[in-house]
Amino acid sequence: MSYQGQCWWITGASSGIGAALARELGARGARVILSGRDEARLAEVAEGIATETLTLTFDVRDEAAMLAATEKAIEWASANSGGIDGFVANAGISQRSRATKTAMQVYREIIEIDLVAQIAATQALLPHMTARGTGRLAFISSIAGKVGVPMRTAYSAAKFGLAGYADALRAELSIDGVQVHAIYPGSIATNVSRNALNADGSKRGRSDSVIDNGIAPDDAAKTMLDAMAAGEREIIVAEGAEKAMGEMRRTPEALLDQVAAMVAAGYMDKMEADG
Ligand code: NDP
Repeated sequence: MSYQGQCWWITGASSGIGAALARELGARGARVILSGRDEARLAEVAEGIATETLTLTFDVRDEAAMLAATEKAIEWASANSGGIDGFVANAGISQRSRATKTAMQVYREIIEIDLVAQIAATQALLPHMTARGTGRLAFISSIAGKVGVPMRTAYSAAKFGLAGYADALRAELSIDGVQVHAIYPGSIATNVSRNALNADGSKRGRSDSVIDNGIAPDDAAKTMLDAMAAGEREIIVAEGAEKAMGEMRRTPEALLDQVAAMVAAGYMDKMEADG
């Protein structure tokens, strides 16, 4: 699969992994739609991309804004090529706080941004994707979405949830021509820790050495795009102990095949008919 001439939409494209994915997709000849809240940073990233770009600025929690952006994205993509070939649900926020000290509001906020909003945006795009009978949906989970990581109870809950949505959706769409990738990064050197929430919901405002010494976002983006092009359903982008943890929890290919086979055998039709 080549990205040349395709159109991809990346959420959280103003920083880190999303910005790197947008740049790398542009370098591989794709037209790119960039979303985030920070208009100036989105414009800066877009400026560095040689292919055509569209920036759509909105908070992923604002469902009306997300739906309006989805309409614009589909219109733009359809006017210039067949439609949206790929969507990366990447926008997210992390956590650095013990469960015993963490306010419920922090759980609500992280789960709203990292899980509910990502599902809502995908649901809004599904009719477009399934009508075309082609396309790719990618979900940026985390190694913390494979292994419960201390200081990240809300984040792990959201990222496990996102992986569950991705796996179930992949099985359902396996008969519609739309491919679903679940991506599990380890530490990538971005602003993720700086933007993470403390126990009281305030921004952490400083990084961790493990994140600063993590994989360069541009390298992570290349690995993710190569793996998607190769058709990998579960993509672990990590090093050292984090990679080992992710690999211990890797879903066997046979299990992913087994769930897809249920769908191919008419599981959904039978379940609907049985009521
Ligand atoms: P950054 O903090 O650098 O980037 C986060 C991106 O998410 C920004 O572009 C930000 O855009 C966007 N975003 C956050 N909240 C919202 C919101 N409410 N509405 C719209 N956009 C939002 O971190 P990363 O690049 O590292 O994070 C990208 C994804 O990768 C996240 O889902 C993160 O959980 C995941 N991840 C990161 C790892 C790492 O080590 N870096 C490891 C595993 C997973 P803006 O500020 O413009 O709104």
